[in-house]
Amino acid sequence: MEDVIVVGGSFAGLSAAMYLARARRRLLVADSGHPRNRYSVRSHGVLALDGREGSEILRSARAQLLEYSTGDLADARVERVIRREHPLSFEVSTSEGQRFASRRLILATGLVDQRPGIPGLEERWGKSVFHCPYCDGYEFGGAPIGVLATVPLSVHFAEIVADWGDVTLFTNGSIAVDAAGRAGLRRRGVRLEEGVVTALEGGSNGGLELVRLEGGGTVPIRALFIATLFQQAAPFAQDLGCELTEHPRGPLVRTDESKRTTVDGVYAAGDMARPTHSIPSAIADGATAGTSAHQSLVVETTDP
Ligand SMILES: Cc1cc2nc3c(=O)[nH]c(=O)nc-3n(C[C@H](O)[C@H](O)[C@H](O)COP(=O)(O)OP(=O)(O)OC[C@H]3O[C@@H](n4cnc5c(N)ncnc54)[C@H](O)[C@@H]3O)c2cc1C
Repeated sequence: MEDVIVVGGSFAGLSAAMYLARARRRLLVADSGHPRNRYSVRSHGVLALDGREGSEILRSARAQLLEYSTGDLADARVERVIRREHPLSFEVSTSEGQRFASRRLILATGLVDQRPGIPGLEERWGKSVFHCPYCDGYEFGGAPIGVLATVPLSVHFAEIVADWGDVTLFTNGSIAVDAAGRAGLRRRGVRLEEGVVTALEGGSNGGLELVRLEGGGTVPIRALFIATLFQQAAPFAQDLGCELTEHPRGPLVRTDESKRTTVDGVYAAGDMARPTHSIPSAIADGATAGTSAHQSLVVETTDP
């Protein structure tokens, strides 16, 4: 029996695992190898690792974890998680039929972006179409930048992105902008384009040159930002009865400051349980979840 199983071994999961391994606890990380940023090569804004390849950061973290004698990795897709009481324990089954058991469970399975089905968008995701200006805006500083609306909050998002370049907000028929919204956009120098976007075109190796509109009009654009709608990548939090919160962009797992979910013994870390998404935040959440899970094991073994 492991002390802790971590489902999802990317930035949040490996960080949780590192804390547990350093606390000399037996742990297993099960991971299916699809981190959310796998579409882009370089990761930005990660202290001391700015511009490094995301896959390289994860490779190095996995190797460091395996140097601890109590840490283990399973490259596997988890299919089912069962929680038992008296004593509290978890059984995790993978698609290849392996079964593992633990006393605590950390979920770090991330989110899946629901990208709009606009021709030319998919092949540019992570190259010239992004979700986060803090991660990928700097490289396009001062250039013509688009924001593609998905939810009313996209108006505010466009006001923020205006710090990175010359911004056009494409409503694409998905939101209506009221007078206050228009005034805010004018104040930030953001142009409003209310036509339907029919295609993204141009550039090589995933680059972008223009946004094409219904009726044939085009707008020159070098990078497009989308506050994507998202889904939970895995159903385990819901299956176990953990409470979810409805963020305007999708469901998130509710946790307290210690990354405890509403179900005893279950922790959630990284994008799946927070409204803002970045590698540094996922790493921080993982460290918190790892610490909390460890301390709950200590309390259990010292209870009379
Ligand atoms: C295109 C793009 C570019 C980005 N660039 C940056 C950047 O430059 N800087 C930055 O700070 N952030 C960036 N981000 C955000 C960053 O990718 C996320 O914030 C970060 O990956 C969240 O880490 P996580 O561990 O919570 O989830 P993820 O990295 O999504 O990892 C979840 C892990 O769980 C695994 N998993 C899911 N289901 C199962 C299952 N059933 N069984 C086993 N394993 C499972 C997945 O395979 C995956 O490995 C970018 C995001 C995108 C989309």
